[in-house]
Amino acid sequence: MIGLGIETSCDETSLGIVKDGKELLSLKIYSQIDLHKPFRGIVPEIASRAHLEKINPLLEEVLEESKVSLSDLDYVAVTRSPGLTGSLMVGAQLARCIHAIHGTPIVPLCHLQAHFAVLQLEGVEPVFPVLGLLLSGGNSAIYRIPHFGKMETVGDTMDDALGEAFDKVAGLFSLPYPGGPPIEAQASLYTPESGEKDLLPPMLRNLEQDRVAFSFSGLKTAVSHLLAKQPDLSVPKVCYHFQNTAFELVERNLKRAVAITGIRRIIAAGGVLANTTLRNRLSAFAKKNSLEFFSPQKKIYCTDNGAMVAALGYYLMQQGYSKSLDFTVSPVRQETYI
Ligand code: AMP
Ligand code: MG
Repeated sequence: MIGLGIETSCDETSLGIVKDGKELLSLKIYSQIDLHKPFRGIVPEIASRAHLEKINPLLEEVLEESKVSLSDLDYVAVTRSPGLTGSLMVGAQLARCIHAIHGTPIVPLCHLQAHFAVLQLEGVEPVFPVLGLLLSGGNSAIYRIPHFGKMETVGDTMDDALGEAFDKVAGLFSLPYPGGPPIEAQASLYTPESGEKDLLPPMLRNLEQDRVAFSFSGLKTAVSHLLAKQPDLSVPKVCYHFQNTAFELVERNLKRAVAITGIRRIIAAGGVLANTTLRNRLSAFAKKNSLEFFSPQKKIYCTDNGAMVAALGYYLMQQGYSKSLDFTVSPVRQETYI
């Protein structure tokens, strides 16, 4: 079964062609970062216009690279939620056009869930139930996934997502946008002394023991207060402590989610998982607690991409879920894929 995946929810225009949900035939990603850089954040109107410009050339590229023609497609999977409405509509319209011409079934889906289907492309078969940890520019959350097609929220963000916190803290140091890579690079220049005390307060210290929640806007404020009080602190040292405090909350939440759900298998995904310190820390945490831990090996699979959409689409097609023209896009996440 050959499927096309279309992802246009935010600032990547991406198309992927996948065979049987696990063999990648082609993947193209156009990142809009340079367009949004001057604004230090994503501008919705710029995003949707860029999707419109890039989507047809990218379609031609993936078809050519995979030696697949539109009439060969068994399904077209497309992100329908969550995301920027104008951007989602661009991807949805391409899926509708292909359906109108070739009658190809459409699988409209939630791209957050697709992050947890990308591992099939690296040879990891899905085993359920599983906990999904998603850390990206717009989300910090843990989900219980009983099967593809359904995700229940165990804990979500109360304010800024973790990627957003990296972007904002980078702004405090006039480091470039997006802030994740330059902060990681700065932090890696610092080696803490043995027994060095945390410079920043722990996040959500008073959260009830049986709750899972993320909050990072206070961390950005704590960094700016620290810089005001101690302007001579080195950038690498502050970046190191920022990462350390942020990742401590991720680890604490994961531990609680395991205790609450009893699920000992974790898949982590999202743009922030490109961070090597975080990946190593989560792997070590899983090993220490005898948990199964998976995360995409290829960094390109951490971010939003069309291949993961095609991979999830395959599993939803197997469950008999497909649509024709009668679907809508949604800025908010749905519990099920419908
Ligand atoms: P996404 O929303 O999945 O496209 O991911 C983009 C977000 O991931 C942005 O907020 C980036 O700052 C963040 N990000 C990318 N690379 C890294 C990294 N190495 N460390 C931390 N955050 C990162
Ligand atoms: Mg993005």
